[in-house]
Amino acid sequence: MKTKVLVTGGAGFLGSHLCERLLNNNYDVLCIDNYSTGSKENITELLKNPFFEANRHEITEPFYVEVDQIYNMACPASPIHYQKDPAQTTKTCVHGAINMLGLAKRTNAKIFQASTSEVYGDPEIHPQTEDYWGRVNPIGIRSCYDEGKRCAETLFFDYHRQYNLDIKVARIFNTYGPKMNPFDGRVVSNFIVQALTGEDLTIYGKGDQTRSFCYVDDLIDGITKLMNSSSDIHGPINLGNNSEFTMIELAEKVLNFTSSKSKLVFKPLPLDDPRQRQPDLSKAKVNLDWQPLVSLDDGLKETINYFKKIVR
Ligand code: UDP
Repeated sequence: MKTKVLVTGGAGFLGSHLCERLLNNNYDVLCIDNYSTGSKENITELLKNPFFEANRHEITEPFYVEVDQIYNMACPASPIHYQKDPAQTTKTCVHGAINMLGLAKRTNAKIFQASTSEVYGDPEIHPQTEDYWGRVNPIGIRSCYDEGKRCAETLFFDYHRQYNLDIKVARIFNTYGPKMNPFDGRVVSNFIVQALTGEDLTIYGKGDQTRSFCYVDDLIDGITKLMNSSSDIHGPINLGNNSEFTMIELAEKVLNFTSSKSKLVFKPLPLDDPRQRQPDLSKAKVNLDWQPLVSLDDGLKETINYFKKIVR
């Protein structure tokens, strides 16, 4: 019998890559999604596989199924999307976590939580290690996501301590690749779409803020390694890439790889936008023997090839 796996948010950018990987690794995969930001196109190919099943479901409502493993990936992750209905974002993080932890408790399933670098807020220490508690504004426009994800981590560790649940918590840093939503407002997708359509590349602020971008295949390797790690490893573990770039550097790479004549245009910096972000990946290396392998140049080229097929 194949191992039965539930992936919440399975039609999203990361969720759909994860479902594909799990199918390739011979799992029986059930995807649930409310399609608020995920898309059916992301899983169309997967539906041809008899061991893949997709269900429309809102994870703020309980879900009853028998499974061996749960990957809790559901929640809009892009600021423009999670800020559209902030109360719902917090509910998705918190009620979603409660429902999935309840399911894990009843079925004795191992459960993975897609947490985020946003738990560090606008960090005072650099790069960010897992023992840093973060600097998060509790009442700002990013708080629905940041605090929602922080509360989800609390719930995961309480269920672990109280009920001995086998939890696996990853803090995911900026990730990019094929199947990103072109209208997500993320910097990588924005710049590529703008470069391919000849629009100006929108730099928020001066463009000297930094991010470290992880290619999706590397991230999925890290997530599955964490899920299959030994039973004394629970995280939180940072997953991402530790090569850091400014937004100007990113824009220049995208212009170069697309041979685009687009210009740069400067727009106001969104509120609470973190100045810099880079994961310390030592824990992932020691606990999972994992590190990212794909360079930003190679990953961007793959991502540009994908966007060439869906825009213009
Ligand atoms: N950003 C930008 N232009 C865009 C979109 C985003 O300069 O068209 C900036 C944004 O202000 C932030 C960085 O790029 O400093 C990363 O933004 P994204 O939304 O991709 O991720 P997050 O802020 O969640 O790290």
